[in-house]
Amino acid sequence: MTFPELAETLEQTGAGSVPPYRAEQIFSWISRGALSFDRMTDLPQAWRRELAARFSIRGSRVSGRLDDPDGTSKLRFTLADGAVIEAVLLAAEKTRPDRGEPYRSYTACLSTQAGCPVGCVFCKTGSLGFLRNLDTFELTDQFLALSDLVRERDGGSCRISHIVVMGMGEPLLNLAALRKALDILCDPRGFGFSKRRITISTSGISAGILELAEQGPEAELALSLTTAREDLRRRLMPGAGGNSLEGLKGALKIYQEKTGRRITLETVLLGGINTGSGDARALAAFAKGLKTTVNLIPWNPVPGLSFGGEKIREPPADETGRFRRLLEQEGIQVTGRYRRGRGISG
Ligand code: SF4
Repeated sequence: MTFPELAETLEQTGAGSVPPYRAEQIFSWISRGALSFDRMTDLPQAWRRELAARFSIRGSRVSGRLDDPDGTSKLRFTLADGAVIEAVLLAAEKTRPDRGEPYRSYTACLSTQAGCPVGCVFCKTGSLGFLRNLDTFELTDQFLALSDLVRERDGGSCRISHIVVMGMGEPLLNLAALRKALDILCDPRGFGFSKRRITISTSGISAGILELAEQGPEAELALSLTTAREDLRRRLMPGAGGNSLEGLKGALKIYQEKTGRRITLETVLLGGINTGSGDARALAAFAKGLKTTVNLIPWNPVPGLSFGGEKIREPPADETGRFRRLLEQEGIQVTGRYRRGRGISG
C-alpha cells in the first residue's frame, strides 16, 4: 500500500477516526524492519491485534539464499502461487572522500516479472519463458528482505543506497506496479529513497520509454542495447525486436528532451557475436545525437546457452579492450561494468 492507501484503509478498519500519525507510525515501523504488528509498540494493543488478524506485512517467502565471497548475496523468493523469483544485494567497499573512512555501500537489484517475455538468448531468465507480472507487494518485499540482510550484516550502520531494476523481467512491461512500488519506497514517511538513486533498465520498449518520460518515475534510465545492428538485435533479443532501432532512438530523444537525463546504453559483450569493428561503428552511430554513456558488460557465462548453433562465450580481455578503444575513437564515452556475484549466478 502507498501511504494514502494505508491511511484510508486504517480509517475503514473500524477503529473510528484514525489520526494520520498512526499511518505514519506503521509506515515508519515497516521501513525499520518490523516483521510483525506486535513490534509496533506505540500502537494500542487492540489495534495491533486487529491489524495482525486482517493484514500481513510480507507476502512472499524467502526460500533460498546464496552468498558470494565478494559480498554479493542472492535471495530466492517463492511467491504465493509457487512462482520463483530472485533479488540480489551487491556490496561495494568505498572510502568517504571527505574523511577518508572506509564504508560499505549496498545496491539492491530487483526483479519485476516471474520469467521474462523478451527471451534474450544470452540470459538465463530469458530461457525460462514468461510466467507473469509481479504485483507491487512482490517488488517491495524484495527490497524489505534485502534491507533485512543489510541489517543482519552491518547492524543499523548501513542502508541500501541504490536500487537497480535489472533483475528478472522487463520493467517497462510492468510499469504500473513498478511505479507504485517506487512511490512506496521513496515516500519520506517510510524509506525515503531518492529516485535519483534508482536505475530502471529496459530491453527497449519504446512505448514504455515514452510513458516514463510523461509519467515517471523520475529514475535513471538504462537501455540494454546489446547491438545496434537491427537484424542481429532481433535474433539476440526476440521479444524486443518489434521495437525498431529507429523508433527506439526517437523515443530516447523525446525522453531526453522531457527529462534532460543522461541515458546509459548497456552492451553485453558476447564473444565473436557483437564485438567486431562493424558492431562498434553501428553502436557509435546509434549513440550519436543522444546524451549517453556506453556501459560495456562482458557476458557472465551461463552454461547451456547458445546462439547460431554455437555456445555463447565470454569475450577475453583483449576483445573487450579493442571494442572499447574503437568506441572511444568514435568519441563515445565508455565505462566498464564491475562484475559481482559470479560465483552465485548473480
Ligand atoms: Fe533477460 Fe532482461 Fe532479456 Fe528479459 S529483458 S530475457 S531479463 S536480459
